[in-house]
Amino acid sequence: MFSTSKCPNCQKTGFEMNTEIISGSDYKVNFVRCISCKTVVGLLDYFNAGDLILKLAKKLGKDLSY
Ligand SMILES: [Zn+2]
Repeated sequence: MFSTSKCPNCQKTGFEMNTEIISGSDYKVNFVRCISCKTVVGLLDYFNAGDLILKLAKKLGKDLSY
């Protein structure tokens, strides 16, 4: 089964990440938005927490691979 994500607004495919600071906040966030109409479909932390944890574990000499 093949499935491609579509924009809920314009029904087109293709998304991009755009880093912005939300008004009233000091933190950057990554918006996942439609390339065509810029409708926001998702939000990601600016810092990739999973990647930070893996780097920290590596520095501590721990292997978290599974
Ligand atoms: Zn769209």
